[in-house]
Amino acid sequence: MQLLDGKATAQEIREELKNAVDARRSKNEKIPHLAAVLVGNDGGSLTYVNAKVKACEQIGFDSSLIKYDAQVTEEELLAKVHELNNDDKIDGFIVQLPLPSHIDELKVTQAIDPLKDVDGFHPENLGKMVLNLPGFLPATPAGILQLLKRNNIETSGKDCVVIGRSNIVGMPLSIMLARSTNPGNCTVTLTHSRTKDLKEKVLKADIIIAAIGKPGFVTADMVKDGAVIVDVGTTRVEDSSKKNGWALKGDVAFDEVAPKCSYITPVPGGVGPMTIASLMINTLQSMELRGK
Ligand code: NAP
Repeated sequence: MQLLDGKATAQEIREELKNAVDARRSKNEKIPHLAAVLVGNDGGSLTYVNAKVKACEQIGFDSSLIKYDAQVTEEELLAKVHELNNDDKIDGFIVQLPLPSHIDELKVTQAIDPLKDVDGFHPENLGKMVLNLPGFLPATPAGILQLLKRNNIETSGKDCVVIGRSNIVGMPLSIMLARSTNPGNCTVTLTHSRTKDLKEKVLKADIIIAAIGKPGFVTADMVKDGAVIVDVGTTRVEDSSKKNGWALKGDVAFDEVAPKCSYITPVPGGVGPMTIASLMINTLQSMELRGK
């Protein structure tokens, strides 16, 4: 078994991006500027946004963090989105999800200028993804593809089971892995809570992607020998041995599954750092797409 080390792969990407930014700076060209909008005080969202802003700083991007309390109105938030759309200094921005229930997430996502939509959630970018046209790819699926590619994991002709069909991970990832690209050319089965005989389907997979948010859901008896496992799940589970009182747990029962597979991502340190790295790739790309 080999660990698919997302932290190390993401570091490799960060160094490449830092070199690209340094080269732009030396030619007096514009430096990428990522803005992040955070609503409320959800611990997970706060951690993710802070990690994104810190990653920007480390590679020399400019960054802005815009915070609202949970009572912000939809109108106020949409006004900020329009302001960021029209601010030429900002190359790309994200509105961290989930949003409070009184705000329509789809309305907010659709209000973002597709050319600044570095999360790749806008329907226009999702359509371009399906057609394999230039545009922003959703950060987590794109990060997973980078992780497979940079670790020389063959996907062509493989049977892949994706567990979970969210709009941000499972659904787009299943399409990206099925496209005629490298990585890609998989035969994909997209599964969800209504799937019958899930275990039998997962047992046949060469590549298993778990994105459901249920700690330890994928057990050793569901995995064939030599499979490649990508664990997207990140659930906070109480852990009194940790200073903050919780630990992040993946969707895969790592200790029992790891000995059976060829490659496996750890949690933390697998998909999470790759998501941030691909957001940075998208931000650099946003300047190119906007002709900066
Ligand atoms: P989500 O919106 O929470 O949806 C969960 C999906 O899992 C749904 O499609 C659901 O099916 C499916 N599901 C639930 N129980 C199932 C079962 N027993 N069998 C088969 N499928 C089942 O998904 P998400 O937003 O993609 O999040 C999933 C996990 O990934 C979470 O732990 C999240 O924190 C993590 N995540 C991590 C990153 C990262 O960068 N590391 C990024 C994004 C998300 P239905 O559609 O039928 O309800």
